[in-house]
Amino acid sequence: MPGGRPVALTFGDRVLDCQPGETVLEAFERHGVALSSSCRSGTCQSCMLQAVKGSVPAAAAVGLKPAWRELGYLLACTCRPSGDLVLQRVGQGLELPTCLLERTWLSEEVIRLGLEPPGDFSFRAGQFVNLIRDDGLSRPYSLAGLPGDDSLELHVRILPDGAMSSWLADAPLGTQLRLRGPSGDCVYACDDREHRLLLVGIGTGIAPLVGVTRDALRQDHAGPIQIVHAAVRGTQLYLLEPLQQLARQHPNVSVFGIALHPEGVPGVLEGELQGLVARLAGGASDPRVLLCGDAPMVNALRRQLFLSGVSLGRIGADAFVGSAQAPSPGLRPPPPG
Ligand SMILES: Cc1cc2nc3c(=O)[nH]c(=O)nc-3n(C[C@H](O)[C@H](O)[C@H](O)COP(=O)(O)OP(=O)(O)OC[C@H]3O[C@@H](n4cnc5c(N)ncnc54)[C@H](O)[C@@H]3O)c2cc1C
Repeated sequence: MPGGRPVALTFGDRVLDCQPGETVLEAFERHGVALSSSCRSGTCQSCMLQAVKGSVPAAAAVGLKPAWRELGYLLACTCRPSGDLVLQRVGQGLELPTCLLERTWLSEEVIRLGLEPPGDFSFRAGQFVNLIRDDGLSRPYSLAGLPGDDSLELHVRILPDGAMSSWLADAPLGTQLRLRGPSGDCVYACDDREHRLLLVGIGTGIAPLVGVTRDALRQDHAGPIQIVHAAVRGTQLYLLEPLQQLARQHPNVSVFGIALHPEGVPGVLEGELQGLVARLAGGASDPRVLLCGDAPMVNALRRQLFLSGVSLGRIGADAFVGSAQAPSPGLRPPPPG
């Protein structure tokens, strides 16, 4: 019989005791809390939960992607906690009040918004939130900054007829909003500071990757960080200059701007994104890859990388579903085949 003392599992508004040697799943079942489960041996991952406070035993995260471990994900069936945990279902967050503090135009079609960070809000650089308007209209947007920044930074591409984006372009500063989240696993996994990071941002998909890069550098990432900023037109590469400046300050950072039509913007490669990504992914060491932005292109790149030998566990992706059919992100993926 294992020794020790019971620990407390906080789940929503309930606090459950978990006895020494007992798994989180067993404790939930004993207390009549429903949690889907199947294999009960850490394989099927049906009983995955997220610890938002407390330390997750290593055995409870075996087989999970590094980014998921970073986010406190655990398998309830193999988790025998040695201390108190605050748990939630994966992807579940409270709706929190926020307020529009600042707006700057970063290009002809992209605005940078600063939102007031809600008191109880924590996130990892690279995640996204659902932004909710007073009337309930809700859209996901990626966080471009780091926890601890003065405001929560979003980069929003304005679609002239887009319900949320065109409204955000004009909403008065001070407007009250709500946000739910954070969600997503496009985050820096700091379990290996030597690995090569390949970060591919299409259009505003570069926003979360700026946060990831800052996070990696803050954690003294020593391996190469290759950042690709892609768009149809060179003038849409709205973060190219600041990224190039970052690369000048950090020898392990390199930046590639690529567009189908560079339009004379200095330092922009002309061509197809798929070719560049294939070339970079095939370098000397296996990269960890994060892909963000235009959904068809992200999905096509993920497939291309997988077929060329990069395991899915090394690829994180946020496909910006919803903005996909707008004409100007445009980088069309190759036909399926
Ligand atoms: C995980 C995730 C993260 C995201 N992060 C970001 C982000 O950081 N930045 C960002 O800009 N977006 C992001 N998006 C996309 C974002 O959530 C919205 O889908 C986008 O802003 C459009 O919303 P909307 O209400 O303005 O447009 P909607 O009213 O929802 O209209 C969207 C659709 O209408 C059509 N449409 C609307 N206006 C036009 C137009 N002028 N021309 C052509 N077609 C049009 C398009 O087909 C488009 O698919 C993200 C999406 C996901 C899923």
